[in-house]
Amino acid sequence: MQNIRKNVNLSSLNTFKTGGNARFFCEVESENELIEALKFAKENKLEFFIIGNGSNLLLSDNDFPGIVIKIIIKGKKIEIKDADYSVVSAGAGESFDDLIIFMADNSLSGIENLWNIPGTVGASAVQNIGAYGAETKDFIFLVEGIDANNFEKFSFKNNECRFGYRESIFKKNKNLIITKVSFKLNNVFLPNFSYPSLKEYFSGRKNFDVREIIEAIGKIRREKLPDWKVLGTAGSFFKNPIITEEEYSKLLEKFPDLPRYDAGKDFVKIPLGFVIDKICLLKGFRVGQVGLFEKQSLVIVNYGGADFSEIDNFAKIIEEKVFEKIKVRIEREVENIF
Ligand SMILES: Cc1cc2nc3c(=O)[nH]c(=O)nc-3n(C[C@H](O)[C@H](O)[C@H](O)COP(=O)(O)OP(=O)(O)OC[C@H]3O[C@@H](n4cnc5c(N)ncnc54)[C@H](O)[C@@H]3O)c2cc1C
Repeated sequence: MQNIRKNVNLSSLNTFKTGGNARFFCEVESENELIEALKFAKENKLEFFIIGNGSNLLLSDNDFPGIVIKIIIKGKKIEIKDADYSVVSAGAGESFDDLIIFMADNSLSGIENLWNIPGTVGASAVQNIGAYGAETKDFIFLVEGIDANNFEKFSFKNNECRFGYRESIFKKNKNLIITKVSFKLNNVFLPNFSYPSLKEYFSGRKNFDVREIIEAIGKIRREKLPDWKVLGTAGSFFKNPIITEEEYSKLLEKFPDLPRYDAGKDFVKIPLGFVIDKICLLKGFRVGQVGLFEKQSLVIVNYGGADFSEIDNFAKIIEEKVFEKIKVRIEREVENIF
């Protein structure tokens, strides 16, 4: 392969700004280049790691002895235009925001509530990204890619992707590398106001379009989240815990204000931000250069120069403090790598 580089530092390739050197690194802009890179890994008995925009990772500062493959496969296309919906495909390396702009430019809608999530289209299917009452699983039509075990193409329909809360078949099966995702989008604009602050933003207004939703989401997010171009972060570090109805009832006896959201039969999702702020009393908690973002406690911020262990240890403190108070083991949304 021609464009393989050696000893590439990874800290500028992820939004937390941590990471050591990758022994090998390459960018792939097509399926064929991806296959070549995977064959290089196999022939040289190297581990590989796939990276998009690096916005959901906490990279170890140790060097990675294998090859990091960055997916930059581009292209956006309307594949099907039916009476009610359209199917739009996008290369896995497209930024998710660019896909949303393409959607709005073509008078389509559906994924606008996911505006301003700084990842790639490929990772949006891995992670089943979600925000403001929308998740990619509700729009994904087809996920295509290459199976690193045999270099053959795969193509999964939505119901084969095993989507869950920030979960999918791709998260557990690292051999499945996504090259293209197709989304089923609406021809007629139907705003998703299931999130109260968005509904409030438009209260009393009648005529607005998908671009105004995008603008509103951008504004709401700017008020609540750190700017990842300025501060090291990977957005929400932890998942909101999902517990049983029985566990929730017990917690309610101790913490009568604890909010709940239904999470399927017999399960309840509880807002971790509330637990951290109001039960653990850790709002804005900080150790050295690492802290909880003042306006959103699920978000951990690298205020400057913190390394992997400082962030990882800080996250462990939060995990322990939450367990001490509510006896629930919280899970990370961000992936610890290497
Ligand atoms: C400020 C900020 C706000 C955020 N807000 C949200 C939010 O509201 N909702 C939300 O859900 N997330 C949010 N995130 C998290 C993150 O942006 C998403 O998880 C995003 O989808 C990650 O995309 P990425 O391209 O950066 O993936 P990466 O971080 O590069 O990779 C994530 C995982 O996907 C794998 N992967 C990447 N591309 C591929 C591929 N083509 N094929 C197979 N595997 C692949 C990687 O190996 C890794 O395991 C936020 C992050 C930040 C920094």
